[in-house]
Amino acid sequence: MISALLIFSQLAISTPPRADLILTNARIYTVNDGHPIAGALAVRDGLVQFVGSEREALAFRGPKTRIVDGGGHVVIPGMVDAHAHLLNLGFTLRQVSLVGTKSYDEVVARVVARAREVPAGQWIEGRGWDQNQWGDTRFPTHDALSRAVPGHPVVLTRVDGHALLANAAAMRAAGVGAGTRDPEGGRIERTASGEPTGVFVDRAKGLVERVVPPPSKEEARRATLEAIKEANRWGLAGVHDAGESRQTIDLFEELARAGTFDLRVYVMVADDSAAVAHYFARGPQSALYGGKLWIRSIKLYADGALGSRGAALLDPYSDDPKNSGLLLSTPAHLRDVATRALRAGFQVNTHAIGDRGNRIVLDAYEAALTDVPTADHRFRVEHAQVLHHDDIPRFAKLGVIPSMQTVHQTSDMYWAPNRLGYARTLGAYAWRSLLQTGAIVPNGSDFPVEAVNPLLSFHSAVSREDASNWPPGGWFPGERMTREEALKSMTVWPAYAAFQESVTGSLSVGKYADFVVLDRDIMTVPPEEILGTQVLATYIAGKAVFVRTADSAPRITAR
Ligand SMILES: [Zn+2]
Repeated sequence: MISALLIFSQLAISTPPRADLILTNARIYTVNDGHPIAGALAVRDGLVQFVGSEREALAFRGPKTRIVDGGGHVVIPGMVDAHAHLLNLGFTLRQVSLVGTKSYDEVVARVVARAREVPAGQWIEGRGWDQNQWGDTRFPTHDALSRAVPGHPVVLTRVDGHALLANAAAMRAAGVGAGTRDPEGGRIERTASGEPTGVFVDRAKGLVERVVPPPSKEEARRATLEAIKEANRWGLAGVHDAGESRQTIDLFEELARAGTFDLRVYVMVADDSAAVAHYFARGPQSALYGGKLWIRSIKLYADGALGSRGAALLDPYSDDPKNSGLLLSTPAHLRDVATRALRAGFQVNTHAIGDRGNRIVLDAYEAALTDVPTADHRFRVEHAQVLHHDDIPRFAKLGVIPSMQTVHQTSDMYWAPNRLGYARTLGAYAWRSLLQTGAIVPNGSDFPVEAVNPLLSFHSAVSREDASNWPPGGWFPGERMTREEALKSMTVWPAYAAFQESVTGSLSVGKYADFVVLDRDIMTVPPEEILGTQVLATYIAGKAVFVRTADSAPRITAR
């Protein structure tokens, strides 16, 4: 019997099915612990058919096989952003970019330039301002903007998406004034006399946003396709989309069905009771349309963000002693959705930034899991940014995945200690502490909050230094990841966090042939050279979705 099997397998090896593509002459980091480095791989029907030496790979060559010479370059699995906002990225590509502005004057100047191209009365949207990057780090007030752009309603979203600045025309259109009350979970910044200053925080944003004309379906379609292209340019083969409406998910399905969707999107359903009921009734959906779309998780919000002091803290903000942040959902709601999700076979991924926000989520998950014991739930906390030290071990204990954005650490480190004080800062962006408890840490950018480039996350994870290598040696360097861990945080760990580890996350036989060719070896170059890396090509299912040419550079530059 044994010898018969041997003969059979030898026969199979002597006539292997022919590969569609063979990649040769490469240094492949497979992220498969059993076979970490290879020189070549073969692809058939969009799947990895073989990984190993070039000589063995070429045995799969047939008359129609395409041979791709890797040019001696480094190849890694297609990178995955475990927390991003795809449609928002598409819209951001069309909005006034305020990223990198060094003063409020610069913000106003960019809006004025756009206003010259847009008919009066038409809305102007912008995104990416961050007063923490300005000489004056207080929130701006609308006056200068309203004086410079009186004829267009203007809304400018803060870099973290948790606050917006409106000009006078926009506030008039929204009908907000001194008499408008703060909504639950939101705050209107006000002058001494109670007039709105123009800044609307968390749920108060809705007072203005509801009057901005919604994009047409055609605009959303174009924005989605542009966002996918932009992701491909940066080496992304997959994205976990952190909360989309049913309308947007329907659009994704339409595009994926038509075969124009070059990205694997693990989409989280936004917290809307009708949408949640719809998807629970439909049941968990995996690898739809040839492995392009997964619909089996719900996105909830516990609290706001740290920059706008909306993150819910156990004790007040160190730089705002009367404020301890905002809860965006009640604990009862988190528990209720989590319980129903377990019954429906869905995952729950809840945004939590502050230590109180995180504790409330862990408590809600624990209660739901007591009601509906489930071995393999893979519930996630999105951000898990500021943790009380008692809560750090609870992630691994409960099987909850902290889905973090290492690049938030290098963006926030300049001011986060002012918000938190020293003791709480020790539990912030603490991915090494979490890894030590046995948790995995999928890594994301939260784009368009941060730039799309996933290597910014990789660089932050291993160095805890910003793009200009500050502070030397890293900010709280004990929390750094190794390069192997950082590579896993953008490949196999996101795969696990999305129930995809049997089909993606590493270059292993039988998984999707998603890979990226880089112009330098991110696993060995000095840390300060990582951010100079260029993506030469991105392959999804063995098909090149991006190849670098003189004019194919990404549209958004790395910061
Ligand atoms: Zn987000």
